[in-house]
Amino acid sequence: MHGLMMERALTISSLIEHAAKFHKNTEIVSRTVEGPIHRYTYGEAYRRVNQLANVLKNLGVSEGDRVGTLAWNGYRHFELYFAVSGMGSICHTINPRLFPEQITYIINHANDKVIFCDLTFVPVLESLAEQLVDVHAIVIMTDMEHMPETQLSNIYCYEELMDSTTDEFEWPEIDELQASSLCYSSGTTGSPKGVLYSHRSTVLHSFAVCSADGLAISGRDTVLPVVPMFHVNAWGMPYASTMAGAKLVFPGGAMDGKSLAELLIDEKVTFTGGVPTVWLMLLQHLKETGKTLPHLQRTVVGGSALPQSMIETFENDYDVACIHAWGMTEMSPLGTVGHMTHALLEDQDTDLMRYKVKQGRVLYGVDMKIVNDDGTPLPQDGEAFGELCVRGPWVTNGYFEDDPTSASSFDNENWFRTGDVATIDPHGYMEVVDRSKDVIKSGGEWISSIELENIAIGHAAVAEAAVIGIEHEKWGERPLLVCVKADDINASGEEILSIYEGKVAQWCIPNAVEFLDELPHTATGKLQKLTLREHFKGYRFAD
Ligand code: AMP
Repeated sequence: MHGLMMERALTISSLIEHAAKFHKNTEIVSRTVEGPIHRYTYGEAYRRVNQLANVLKNLGVSEGDRVGTLAWNGYRHFELYFAVSGMGSICHTINPRLFPEQITYIINHANDKVIFCDLTFVPVLESLAEQLVDVHAIVIMTDMEHMPETQLSNIYCYEELMDSTTDEFEWPEIDELQASSLCYSSGTTGSPKGVLYSHRSTVLHSFAVCSADGLAISGRDTVLPVVPMFHVNAWGMPYASTMAGAKLVFPGGAMDGKSLAELLIDEKVTFTGGVPTVWLMLLQHLKETGKTLPHLQRTVVGGSALPQSMIETFENDYDVACIHAWGMTEMSPLGTVGHMTHALLEDQDTDLMRYKVKQGRVLYGVDMKIVNDDGTPLPQDGEAFGELCVRGPWVTNGYFEDDPTSASSFDNENWFRTGDVATIDPHGYMEVVDRSKDVIKSGGEWISSIELENIAIGHAAVAEAAVIGIEHEKWGERPLLVCVKADDINASGEEILSIYEGKVAQWCIPNAVEFLDELPHTATGKLQKLTLREHFKGYRFAD
């Protein structure tokens, strides 16, 4: 027997419709790429989302089409989130920090039809426009006054297009399982892989983000998403804030400590989230200027491990709760959050910091286990460590148009293998202790160690190469190239590093080279990265 409850689809357009109806005077504030601060309300945003849906229709976008964005966190990007998905097409957020070849690959793999681009990223598009196969229109996200001189063809001005349409749009009835947005992850081996979210997964994830043991976003909050909207939808904060009716503050492209502090203070931000590297810049600025954060109540830090010193500084010097969270692009991204349980809080003998530095407890909606090499589940005793596997309604069950020959990340019971190695303690706190995937995370962005190794091998003086991540105070991790020298050719570390120029983005080039007589291998000849990481434990770069 079925229950007698209404069947209302969980759709992204329902979030903005709700906000326009019930939080219509709540503000959305943006630092614009053009300079000034822009302000409007959810009510006004909704009218423009309607206009934008008409613009998309006029540009020939139809259901299921992919629409790319190359943009900072701002109100026009927010409008795209809701208009593109709301009309049944797919909002594909592109990470502009990737190397141009990767951006081209991603746009072509997704078959993006139209690209919306912030002024900052026009040069990026100019450098690759000729290689873009399906893109028939590029919309510059600005007004006529700021339209740039450009060689790009088929370009349009966002505000001019908006002025040419009405703010009435009939939102289609959408199946909640329909795809809504697409984000590529380069945190896997091989080419970047597309994670395709659905309306349902996005709305369910938003409920989790708003829940008290999630990020606890509510109508009492002013939320500043520092994490970019091209990184897993800014951790879902734009959707969750719209659901809750929180005031939203977008920082645009200004991620430096001074600009962030200004917004946090002037806009009375109560909640913010981002990777540790940004917070280091903010804390440094606060220290230099003596400024405080009178309104900020909590900050969620994720994407990379949160150092204890950062928790202490936020809590002791600024009276801001600093909460550790863990997730992945493949998980929309929220998996665990480091709130303290009543059992820990009541126990006088507990060292709470020991738990605050862990990645946190799993939320309802995500199931989690750790397994050994054979896939056998391991005990949750805080000691045993193994690969972390997850499943749930906002966890991907397959990459978008993935090459069928590429290694699968799914086990036969349909758990997603995260590539993180973790422990889970008896209180349910998960701690990431290592990573089995061959990637390095620097300032929240991925660097492929395999790609760097393959390039190094191309140098005549290198017989064998391995790249490992070394802990770094500012960036979380930075790559170290470890080489075995070729017998007959001598080259300095600097000479070897010069091989990367023009082959990878500048920020991906290893910080240093170290030489060993041989690299550790398993009996089957596989490089033992774990042993190598142990060897260089405590290593510090000269700078
Ligand atoms: P991404 O898909 O780019 O969001 O990256 C997800 C990966 O980042 C995870 O699988 C982890 O390897 C890493 N990661 C995310 N959050 C944390 C965290 N709090 N501590 C350590 N690593 C993290």
